[in-house]
Amino acid sequence: MIIGLVGTIGAGKQTILDYLQEKYGYNSVSCSDVLRDMLKEQGKELTRDNLRELGNVTRKEGGNGAIAKILLEKLRNNWKANYVVDSIRHPDEVAVLRTSPLFHLVAVDADLRLRFDRVKARKREQDPVTLPAFVERDQREMFGTGNEQRIRETMELADELVLNNGSVEELKQRVDDLNLVSDERLRPSWDDYFMRLARLAAQRSNCMSRKVGSVLTNNNRVIATGYNGTPKGVKNCNEGGCERCNSAVAKGTSLSECLCLHGEENAIIEAGRTRAEGSTIYTSFLPCLWCTKMIIQAGIKEVVFSEIYDLHEASIKLFETAGVLIRRLK
Ligand SMILES: [Zn+2]
Ligand SMILES: [Zn+2]
Repeated sequence: MIIGLVGTIGAGKQTILDYLQEKYGYNSVSCSDVLRDMLKEQGKELTRDNLRELGNVTRKEGGNGAIAKILLEKLRNNWKANYVVDSIRHPDEVAVLRTSPLFHLVAVDADLRLRFDRVKARKREQDPVTLPAFVERDQREMFGTGNEQRIRETMELADELVLNNGSVEELKQRVDDLNLVSDERLRPSWDDYFMRLARLAAQRSNCMSRKVGSVLTNNNRVIATGYNGTPKGVKNCNEGGCERCNSAVAKGTSLSECLCLHGEENAIIEAGRTRAEGSTIYTSFLPCLWCTKMIIQAGIKEVVFSEIYDLHEASIKLFETAGVLIRRLK
């Protein structure tokens, strides 16, 4: 795993970095390490000016992601180890690191006043000591142009945002909760995978009342997908195809007048009863009573749903009566 850290000044990157090293055995690496190694190879002195100059030249020649590219090459030599890359400052660096399937970007932020107090307390030589100077530096780092730092834009690319407005212990707890070392960060679990597919199917829905997607699986293979909408050959719901969905009726009422097929229904029709038998249905909403009946009759053995709406008790009761397993995945 390669975790990239990006954050505003004083947000708590260093604390996260230390914690990842101490608790989870991560190796800390950075783009400045790359520059330091390069300077050594060139037999030059390790000074701030030399580092800055080499950085500028490398970026000028190879683009803003050039140093990150060299870093990533180095990490590839031992890709099984866990690395934390501190600190990423430009969107182009993220683009380079994203070429690795092991990369994950975590952004850290906190309220400005709090960050200023932290920076003041750590008493580093180059840190601003007055609030106006701090704000000036903060803005400069966040909204640079060209090959300057662009922290804000980089943070927007993050997979996770950690807000660090509390204590160090709370921050550590948040890092633990993120479960950064989990393999599921690199690829979703089966449950997560199928539910995401169901949600993706829901996006195809043209129904005016609600978007629902379903996926039928057996032995972790997709058998069929479905989403709700009017039957084929009939005008789409969002083009006025279903009068009920296009009128102001309360959710869950006048269902008998609805022309839209439900996501679960469409998935079952697509699979056919023979293939639906013994399968699991992943569905973005808890099935309505109508679909519950269909699911039971199709011989589906398990229902995994995500969202719930008002009319759920009858469905849950019926599933239980019929011996269909049901569980919620948020
Ligand atoms: Zn509809
Ligand atoms: Zn339904």
